[in-house]
Amino acid sequence: MLLKDQIALVTGGSRGIGRGIVLALAREGAKVTFVYHSNADAADALVQEVAAAGGTAKGVRADVADPAAAQTVVDGVLAEHGRLDILVNNAGVIRDKLFLKMEADDWNAVINTNLTGTFAFCKAVAQQMAFKQRSGRIVNVSSIAAEHVNKGQANYAASKGAVNSFTRVLAAELAARNVLVNAVAPGFIATDMSQAVRNLAGEDNLKKIIPVRRLGTPDDIANVVLFLCGPAAAYVTGQVITVDGGLSLGAV
Ligand code: NAD
Repeated sequence: MLLKDQIALVTGGSRGIGRGIVLALAREGAKVTFVYHSNADAADALVQEVAAAGGTAKGVRADVADPAAAQTVVDGVLAEHGRLDILVNNAGVIRDKLFLKMEADDWNAVINTNLTGTFAFCKAVAQQMAFKQRSGRIVNVSSIAAEHVNKGQANYAASKGAVNSFTRVLAAELAARNVLVNAVAPGFIATDMSQAVRNLAGEDNLKKIIPVRRLGTPDDIANVVLFLCGPAAAYVTGQVITVDGGLSLGAV
């Protein structure tokens, strides 16, 4: 087991990519707390699935866009386990609209969840990882939309572009204290988030523009997160790793 008895925290863990990350970390022996927003049944089902496989997971309800949430959640993990080795900032939302129709509310909802939520959770774990433990791994889930233009995603692209920049600066500031900070940038992953685009564009059409000819799965992302949290990535920090089946190559 790569992460035996390590303490991990994953935001947005009850479905999609986050769920895949929870399962992968628990499979490798980490004790995982995950934040879910509203679906208690899905959270319970995940806890049971992890337990059935011999792992340990716990769901905590919180809204990552609430400025007070991160510290409360992190304090709870520290009270229970006394340390925190891995933080994965995965919770995210889209509110796609062309800019002329985009309202401040659409902007704030996406920035507050994807960017400020990531900041708040990093801030809440930083003292513990950097000073008390002098070790830790942080992985932020970004998107290829940060660097590749999709009309209708000004808010989302801005949030994920900022997550990439934030990841690099945080990595530089925390590296000397053995806290490694990286990001993964998924392409098209088959989850609830991409359902509307998949319906609109058609899955077969999307597969034609992805060089490996399939959509990604939560496992495709979870495997790279696992690498970034494990011993093989001990010399990797400040990187944004694209996981998109070659989509961003722009090959025709
Ligand atoms: P999803 O919509 O299936 O899951 C998102 C999760 O985040 C859900 O569990 C949701 O409850 C949680 N969440 C959203 N807002 C929250 C809040 N305020 N507080 C707490 N939890 C909240 O989407 P997904 O595809 O699994 O997305 C996971 C991450 O991957 C996101 O950051 C997303 O931007 C990123 N991503 C997804 C794709 C894709 O194609 N699916 C591509 C690139 C990046």
